[in-house]
Amino acid sequence: MNRSRVFSGMRPTGQLHLGHLAGALTNWVKLQEDHDCFYGIVDWHALMSNYDDSEETRKLCMDVLLDWLSVGLSPEKSCIFIQSHVPQHAELFLALSMITPLGWLYRNPTYKEQIVNIRNKDLSTFAFLGYPVLMAADILLYRAEKVPVGEDQSAHMELSRELVRRFNHFFGEGLLPEPQTLLTPTPKVPGTDGRKMSKSYKNSLYISESAESMWEKLRTMITDPSREKRRDPGDPGKCPVWDIHKVFNPDESERAEIDNGCRTAGIGCIDCKKMLNTHIAEMMEPIHERRARYEKDAGLLNDILVEGARRAEAVARATMRDIYPSMGLLARADRVS
Ligand code: ADP
Repeated sequence: MNRSRVFSGMRPTGQLHLGHLAGALTNWVKLQEDHDCFYGIVDWHALMSNYDDSEETRKLCMDVLLDWLSVGLSPEKSCIFIQSHVPQHAELFLALSMITPLGWLYRNPTYKEQIVNIRNKDLSTFAFLGYPVLMAADILLYRAEKVPVGEDQSAHMELSRELVRRFNHFFGEGLLPEPQTLLTPTPKVPGTDGRKMSKSYKNSLYISESAESMWEKLRTMITDPSREKRRDPGDPGKCPVWDIHKVFNPDESERAEIDNGCRTAGIGCIDCKKMLNTHIAEMMEPIHERRARYEKDAGLLNDILVEGARRAEAVARATMRDIYPSMGLLARADRVS
């Protein structure tokens, strides 16, 4: 069976939360059943903004790996690896940078937004501007046909496709394939304050978080401010707990009961939160069991990363072998095949 190739990555910049789970990882787990998936922990990308805290990046690589394995990414079904273990990412980044017009990078909406909004570090670096070029290299190295990403990555994907067209124009039609975006059909998962769940807002429920800690966060969440007392009717439309129910409570009739119970003061906020907590705890139980098994086995984690890097590098090397002569680089005499 000819399975189409998928690449996606995540930066080791923090523990993963339920937004990553519903907005990306659940889909990645499904894709590995009928696609040839390459999933990279993209540590070079993390360094582009966190170069002042490299110790943290190293630690977070293992955290992300554990989060991935715990939610069901399988090293038997997918190639799971760390970006910097496959040096061709850096090579292709350099090759693509030859033909990347600076104007395309300065125009990138994510760059424009982040350079204004991220005030606590100096991001006016060569690498940070080149972020989408490395992302294009990640994808093209594996000749990935499909790239599952959130809406927030659409501009970067468009830039990847433009780079492919320009690269092929200079060095040979069909040399690199144009990757397609596979938009993940999940809306933004809200955090405990109603804003998008994000580690920078401190509103996250983490994949590795214990049931007790998760309940403490849910229990103390604000609800519709007009429901001061148990007997006051509320409006689910104004309640962040309800927003989370909509993503993680699969029981339609229970949701209808809660909606009605809130509007008529038939149920209290704690009842509603308990129901949400039950669904989340049920979903997390097998995830936490799997994590506990992997956490105990450092040797296995290392083996997974070594095997992943080995498989990824074999594909990456073949891509670079095609590209080098087309770009006019003289092959090393002892490596001419
Ligand atoms: P990065 O790893 O590039 O810093 P993020 O940590 O913001 O990006 O998230 C990686 C991906 O996870 C996003 O592209 C998006 O698809 C998904 N994601 C993150 N947070 C949420 C959320 N709150 N709701 C839905 N999807 C999310």
